[in-house]
Amino acid sequence: MNEIKDLIQINPLLGAVQRSEEIFWSNPMYLPTEEATKATPYSTTDIEDAEARLQRFAAFIRVAFPETEATDGIIESPLSEISEMKSHLNASLETDLSGRLLLKRDDLLPISGTIKARGAIYEVLKHAEELALEKGMLESIEEDYAVFASEAFTEFFSQFHIAVGTTGNLGISVGMMARKLGFNVTVHMSVEAKQWKKEYLRDKGVEVIEHDTDFSKAVENGRAESDANPSSYFVDDEHSAELFLGYTVGGFRMKKQLEEEGITVDKDHPLFVYLPCGIGGSPGGITFGLKQAFGEHVHCFFAEPTKMPSMLVGLLSEKYDGISVFDFELGGLTIADGLAVPRTSGLVAKLMRTFFSGGYSVQDEVFKGLLSSLYDKESVFLEPAAVAGMVGPYRLLNTLNGKSYLEAAGLKDKMHQATHIAWATGGSMVPEKDREVFLEESSLHAL
Ligand SMILES: *Cc1c(COP(=O)(O)O)cnc(C)c1O
Repeated sequence: MNEIKDLIQINPLLGAVQRSEEIFWSNPMYLPTEEATKATPYSTTDIEDAEARLQRFAAFIRVAFPETEATDGIIESPLSEISEMKSHLNASLETDLSGRLLLKRDDLLPISGTIKARGAIYEVLKHAEELALEKGMLESIEEDYAVFASEAFTEFFSQFHIAVGTTGNLGISVGMMARKLGFNVTVHMSVEAKQWKKEYLRDKGVEVIEHDTDFSKAVENGRAESDANPSSYFVDDEHSAELFLGYTVGGFRMKKQLEEEGITVDKDHPLFVYLPCGIGGSPGGITFGLKQAFGEHVHCFFAEPTKMPSMLVGLLSEKYDGISVFDFELGGLTIADGLAVPRTSGLVAKLMRTFFSGGYSVQDEVFKGLLSSLYDKESVFLEPAAVAGMVGPYRLLNTLNGKSYLEAAGLKDKMHQATHIAWATGGSMVPEKDREVFLEESSLHAL
């Protein structure tokens, strides 16, 4: 406890975090992209390698998941302008956000309808490819990967096991792809996991183990059980480089998508991206990909619930995964179940400390307000974890720390030419009944 007091003395913003206040943090460890990248083991080459693997598997995905036919087996999402929502937020937050506000629709990603589809599906495919090459099912990576949909392959993979610990969505993405390939799958669910997610997975033949503990404990239990079985592979949300690399592709692909939309990103046209953050893998990986695509011209901020600000406490204290929200006496249940992670990923937090422009925290009432207003103004339903990005531009413009960030970066007179992207991370799979509950719960909080 004394240690926490000392940390707050050094960085008073941590005091505000402890009091569950909303904060906006601009990152003093931030470095220019080239310098930051040199200090990591990764580069554009790794992103291109991951992209090439996804391209190889597209032939399989197209057959196995017919809903991906339109995109030729590539799992990608559209970008939509939300001008009604922007006008509404401008009015209710009394702010003139003059640049464009777009929503990246990862809620519409095929197969599992959340951002997790990017990292988790990639990791499962990489593992499947390795096994197939190692055991001679596949002679080379030049073969037509449609064979992964064959009975011989399904039978082959049924000798193997994949396990994962999750608040829910990671389990769905891993489960959907791994079951389709033929693997046996065990998903360890934390206490936050919604009932429908458990039922959905059981229905797909996934073994679901319910833990009445938080996410970090569910992962620990899952890892221990998987490690005891030599034919089992564990998708490790706390330490996985493969998940991270899968996510990077999503950021890197934005270059082409923005070009297609006719959106310029350069020193006079800054791009701001706001990413909901749980353990950090998805915002971290996407930020890494965005930085490799746009360098200094993209500014990436992560967003967390005030009840579970695991990346904020990890980075502000510079203790990364050596500290958790419980050390600050935080950690109560949040409506943003997909972000309910008490301890950040050490791998991602250390790797990304010099790339994030900053981060901010959001109270449950604001999650509700954004969810309800978006539904009202744009007829888009997102799950609570997915909405936090939309308030990002307003925090940037209205907080002292946000204003100084813009000032220091020389961006103040360029904001009318800016593009703001709120990354919507999930929602299309939420059953009607659960949607109604969220909407009902949120209706009183419209922003
Ligand atoms: C998991 C998740 C996130 C955050 O991703 P992390 O890798 O845990 O940081 C955001 N939104 C949704 C809907 C999620 O399921």
